[in-house]
Amino acid sequence: MSKPTILWYRQDLRLHDHPALRAAAEKGEVLPVFVLDHDAAGDWAPGGASRWWLHHSLAALQRSIEARGGRLLLRSGDSGSVLAELCEKTGAHEVLCSRRYEPWAAAQETAVHGQLADAGIELRRYGGALLHEPGSVLTQGGDPFKVFTPFWRACRREAIAEPRRLPELSWCTDASSEALEDWQLCPTEPNWAEGWEALWTPGEDGAQERLVDFLEQSVIAYADQRDLPATDATSRLSPHLHHGEISPRQVWVLCEQHKAVHPDAHDAVEKFQSELGWREFSYHLLHFFPQIPEAPFKENFADFPWKNDKDALRRWQRGRTGYPIVDAGMRELWQTGYMHNRVRMIVASFLCKHLLTHWREGEAWFWDTLLDADLASNGCSWQWVAGSGADAAPYFRIFNPITQGEKFDKEGHYVRRWVPEIAALPDKYLHCPWETPADILEHTGITLDETYPEPIVEHKAARQAALDAYETVKLSKAAAA
Ligand code: FAD
Repeated sequence: MSKPTILWYRQDLRLHDHPALRAAAEKGEVLPVFVLDHDAAGDWAPGGASRWWLHHSLAALQRSIEARGGRLLLRSGDSGSVLAELCEKTGAHEVLCSRRYEPWAAAQETAVHGQLADAGIELRRYGGALLHEPGSVLTQGGDPFKVFTPFWRACRREAIAEPRRLPELSWCTDASSEALEDWQLCPTEPNWAEGWEALWTPGEDGAQERLVDFLEQSVIAYADQRDLPATDATSRLSPHLHHGEISPRQVWVLCEQHKAVHPDAHDAVEKFQSELGWREFSYHLLHFFPQIPEAPFKENFADFPWKNDKDALRRWQRGRTGYPIVDAGMRELWQTGYMHNRVRMIVASFLCKHLLTHWREGEAWFWDTLLDADLASNGCSWQWVAGSGADAAPYFRIFNPITQGEKFDKEGHYVRRWVPEIAALPDKYLHCPWETPADILEHTGITLDETYPEPIVEHKAARQAALDAYETVKLSKAAAA
């Protein structure tokens, strides 16, 4: 009997454009296994929303493999031990997997490599999660890029090959699978994810459908409307990309084909492709600066005088700051597991600058509540907003939540959807309810601080306090120079 090759599924929950699966299939029978090993991830084990997605994504992968005559083996425990045991049982002498870039996952690969090597088994790692492997795009001096624009320019000079067709697959099965339901990845009491199934279709088919729909229906308006949270102008591919249900190369190649057939959409598609570039940039940064999720990239932010008011943090998390655009975003996040990018920037700026709360608190909340929670993109984005990151927003750029609301949600559709208790306010006061004249409040039946909170901080004073706090960073930078 031929010996199977083990395919160790990790964050690459798809069949197509999967270099490790292809390589395994070329060797003969494949035994696909996913190991639930949250201990290895430590503090960065998937949060609540990601666990919900993982459950449904694994169920979808199980169905796809079963439809092709195989069976996805589900096991829990220490990855190295489970894989070594399976190799011994089946006689496999190779384990193939897709590379991951989170510091804990890279350490896990090294540990598993060692454990398997002790038993004479080879662990082979393949790309597929990124367009360009970290280290393959460097400055002329051979250093990692710290600024996006030259990084992306350098990436654009590299060729991206077309994905190859799914190879002929022949499977090996094993009867020792655990039941997905027993892993209890979905919330039960209370089931706060109730209703998400109507919004999202985790899995490879759902990812492909979303990409095709986006290109056919929305991409043309992407450049103009991607900042408007009330529109459906962005792809919402982020949870699919994060879980590896679609490869960035598949997205890229379809974009290229779309531009060739629809030259009028060229600029919009290019803009969309450059957002994939930010995903790449975040991963390359994380690879070279693994401290990013936990410590400021710019060291002079280490002693930043954060206030860290617990009550203010709770009000931000619950969407009760009294600033409608901020509250709308936080409620969208809680109710759907997603928040529009423009609003992510606004709420993050509000937390770090208006409330002077450490970006790590926001990062942790997003980690638990976002379906696309991603160590690279989340950590880099929070540091970008706080001003402590690579190529970050300048510290003095403090988003005004009133004018941001007026600019990006001019007609108030987004705020009215997520903060319905103030929906009756005229557009003029929707982003600053506290300025509403008493007769209008009375007429609309809104009582401030009862129907909807008074603002948690006064914008101008909070802005000044943030600028004062950031002065200390400037001073410590000057002292270090
Ligand atoms: P689209 O506009 O359709 O973009 C296409 C893809 O490009 C996205 O799916 C995503 O993979 C990538 N992308 C877009 N913008 C960015 C960006 N700024 N940085 C990195 N990749 C990007 N994105 C995550 O995937 N996971 C996170 O945990 C995450 N946390 C964030 C935290 C903060 C504070 C901020 C400001 C942004 C964060 N982002 C994160 C980036 C961005 O908000 C989301 O990727 C985007 O909103 C996802 O929606 P979309 O798929 O419709 O994006």
